[in-house]
Amino acid sequence: MNTAVRKRLGSRSSFLDTSEALETTPTDARTTEWQKQWNSLGSQAAQWKERGITPDECLATGHDQTWAVWKTLNRLRVGEGRCKASMKKWNITTSDACACGEPQTMEHLMNCTQAPQCTGDDLAEPTAAALACANHWKDEI
Ligand SMILES: [Zn+2]
Repeated sequence: MNTAVRKRLGSRSSFLDTSEALETTPTDARTTEWQKQWNSLGSQAAQWKERGITPDECLATGHDQTWAVWKTLNRLRVGEGRCKASMKKWNITTSDACACGEPQTMEHLMNCTQAPQCTGDDLAEPTAAALACANHWKDEI
């Protein structure tokens, strides 16, 4: 068991001063905390659940793909990434226009007429359609 060491500097405080001993296994404690945080997310968690994403102690599907494709799959799944709408919101670019002319939001990336299209269900598995979509956007988002 770890014990707090004597403080050498008054300004430093050890995490052991505020941490509590686990009463379960680390995996159970981590999963329980994750589930608690998940439940507090409300509508966003419901949206992720619709896409087949649930708290779990394993890598998301598609982890056998290249890093760039897997990253893109995960960004499309959670609806957060470097699409042009986000880049404009973050004041990195001035335009949110996609090559097709529509505003390029994360949801648009799955429905863009100039790229392979896929659905949330495709992303969960991922299907060939999701992999094609992720491959298309992997260098952009
Ligand atoms: Zn587009």
